[in-house]
Order: sequence, then structure tokens, then C-alpha cells
Amino acid sequence: MKIHFNGAARTVTGSKHLLETDDGLKILLDCGMFQGGESEGGRENRHFDFEPGEIDLLILSHAHIDHSGLIPKLVKDGFKGPIYCTEPTLALCEIMLPDSAHIQMSDYRFSEKKGLLSQANEPLYDIDDVLAALDLFQTVNYNEWHHLHDDVALMFTFVGHIIGSGCVNLRVKEGRKTHKIAYTGDIGRKTHRIIKGWEPFPQAEIIITESTYGDRLHGDIATNEARLREIVHQTCVVNKGKLIIPAFSLGRTQEIVHALDKMEGEGLLPAVKVFVDSPLSTSATEIVKSFPQYYNKAIKKYMERDSQPFGFSNLHYIRDVKYSKLLNNLEEPCIIISASGMIEAGRIMHHVANNIEDERNTLLIVGYCEPSTLGGRLRNGAKEIRIYGRDYKVKAAVEVLDAYSAHGDYEEMIEYLSCQEPHLIRKIFLVHGRYETQTTYRTHLMEAGFHHIEIPDQGDVVEVS
Ligand SMILES: [Zn+2]
Repeated sequence: MKIHFNGAARTVTGSKHLLETDDGLKILLDCGMFQGGESEGGRENRHFDFEPGEIDLLILSHAHIDHSGLIPKLVKDGFKGPIYCTEPTLALCEIMLPDSAHIQMSDYRFSEKKGLLSQANEPLYDIDDVLAALDLFQTVNYNEWHHLHDDVALMFTFVGHIIGSGCVNLRVKEGRKTHKIAYTGDIGRKTHRIIKGWEPFPQAEIIITESTYGDRLHGDIATNEARLREIVHQTCVVNKGKLIIPAFSLGRTQEIVHALDKMEGEGLLPAVKVFVDSPLSTSATEIVKSFPQYYNKAIKKYMERDSQPFGFSNLHYIRDVKYSKLLNNLEEPCIIISASGMIEAGRIMHHVANNIEDERNTLLIVGYCEPSTLGGRLRNGAKEIRIYGRDYKVKAAVEVLDAYSAHGDYEEMIEYLSCQEPHLIRKIFLVHGRYETQTTYRTHLMEAGFHHIEIPDQGDVVEVS
């Protein structure tokens, strides 16, 4: 069997890993979009390093765009096979993929208006391609083996990253041999604030696993919640400013809203308005609310006291753009949570532009940002930024709270992998991480007793027979 690493190899976005058996069966694991800087809309998203029409089936680990965002393009370019995922992942893709098509079309029209059209602005797909792709989705339950094909069985196990996310466990027959493969997708925190945590997965011989925070420790949740309270107090009460929080629509937004909901319930949230200013974040929250069977015990217990864990009196969800624009003129202190999380597109761009030059305000970054993105530059201490062709001085405070990340740190990822017997593993491939991070993570893994660890590069093809 060969594994082709066609995305998220020595980088964090664009997840695409292709398994090819000697018998010619081709299974694609995820079909994500590259994000950040020049790559978005650029060459990497316009060409697949394989023939889409030759792929037999696609398995999707979870709905984040860097794992799912090129599925409509794959279908547009000739893929006709089934796409397997969990039920919440399909529900989320039904809002996220149309949103992705919509953003691309809006960017295209904006560039057209400004006379800045180039091939890089052309949408990768449109809503018809999205609908054709959604027709191919088939959902499967967690913790059950499903025979997808004569030679392939699949089981999703809980990985605790976002609702619907799963570790992809595969049994793939090749001649007389059966390969035991696990692709972890993204690994969540040990204690997720909303959904069930990770569970052990069956012993695998080949493991493809993420490494986003392979060189970091996040710190404990209680400390970070205290820090969040301090930041809210300092910004909204002492400075009388605005707290701007860029957050992924899916996962991070619900976690932050729930943290604020808890603060409100405990009487620790100042009486300021809180806005979730994003139609996608609003819809994603509705979907998270519709799958309470995947909540963890802590939030179920919380809901015995407060049936609305993502809603309190001062919280407003904004879909309509005209209400979003009204926030620009709001004089009073407030909290605005908006997407995208890496500050690359969407309404957050306007909120950063409107608020970054006022020292009363705070920009709070709560998750991973590719260094080339605006979020990444702010995170790394940029003093001046450019948004839509205009320069801005960074006068607002910039704070970072990584504990709100949906990804485990290196100790958590190793703990997740500790259900495996290292001597039974033939190969571990590290993906979804920056190369310097991955080399550090490999050292940590070796100290924990794991061996045969490789860090494939983009385009590498590895034989694993
Ligand atoms: Zn993810």
C-alpha cells in the first residue's frame, strides 16, 4: 500500500491523505482547503495532485474547512464516489460548504468592483457544486464497524475536537493482508467544555496523526477562565472599551459563548452587551444545540440549572449585515465575537479595522493562527497592519488564550495515543503541523516510547507494505 500526502504535510491546512492499495483501490482521507496568505485561492487549491475521478471513496474526519473545504471542487473535477462522515459532520457541512461558496463569490465580486480581478479571485466552486457534493454524503454511527466496500471497513471513534469529529479507524484488505490504519484527524483537549472527550481507539499498525501543538502546553482551564474574566473586566469595566474576539464559527465560538454564559450565571460578567456577529457562527451554534447526545457530563449537569448553555440575556446573535454595521457606531463597552478565527475574511476584518487603533480596546486571540494570516501577525506582535488596502496602527491590547484551542497540546495528544501498544505500530506519520513543531513533537513521542515516526512533506508518497 502507498500513502500519498497531498495536504497538511509540514503545514497545518489543506488536509488530504490518499491511501492506494496494490489492487488499485483509492481512499481519500479528508479534502481540506489550504488557508492563509497566498495559498488560499492560489495554486494549491486549484489543482489536485491526483485524479479526482479515480478516487473510490472519501472519508471525512470532521467539518472544519481545512478538512472539508475542497470537497465541492473534488466533485466538480470528477469524483463520484460516496463520502462517509458522522451525522453532525454532515449537518455542519450543509451550512459550511454553502458559506464557503458564498464567501468566494463575494470576494470575487468585491475584487471585480475594485478592478483587482485575477485568476486567484475566481471561485473554486459554486453552490451547484456544493449541492452535488452534499448528495454524495452518507452518515455512519460512532463505535460501529461499517463495511464500505468488499475490502474496506470503517469505524469512527470519539476524538473530542468538535461536534461530529472522529478518529478514522480502517481495516483495508490488500491481497491476503489486512492493514490496520488509524487517521486521528484533529485531536481535542482532554477535557472538552461541551462535547464528550476522546475515547481509546483500536490498535493500529499505521497511524496518521496531527501535530498542531506538538511543542506547546496550554495551561489549565481554570487559570485561563480566570484570565478571561480579568481581560473582560480590564477592557469593558476599567477601560470602558470593546473586547473583540476572532473565533472559528464552529467549536471556538460555542466554547467562548459558554464560558461567558457561565460567568454570567455566576454574576461575574459585567453588564455589557455580547454579540456573536456571524451568520455562520449563529447557524453552527444551532447545530451544536441540536446534538445534545454528544455533550459531556459537565455540560449536561450545567443544563439542569441553565437550559440555555449558549444564551443569556445580554447575548445577541447577529445574522443580518445591517445590524452588524450598527456595531461600528456603538459607543458603549461590549464584547464582539466574530469569524474568521485567523482574521482572514468575514465581518471580523471590519471589527479589527474599526477597533484596533483605540487603546481602550482589546483583541483576544483564542486559537491557532497561521503566521502568514492577519491573526498570526497580530499574535506575533505586529505594530502595524493592513486591511483592505489601508494601514492601521495597533494601539489596542492584543491578548492570547490558547487554552480555548480545540486542539490538544503535546501531552494531551500523547495521552490520547497512549491507548496504543507502541511495539505493534509499524509507522506513525505526523501531519497537520509546522515542520519545526513536528520535529519537537517527534522527540516527545520517542520519549514516550513511540518509534518509527516520519514527517512526510507535501507530495511525498510512502510505501507501507
Ligand atoms: Zn479541526
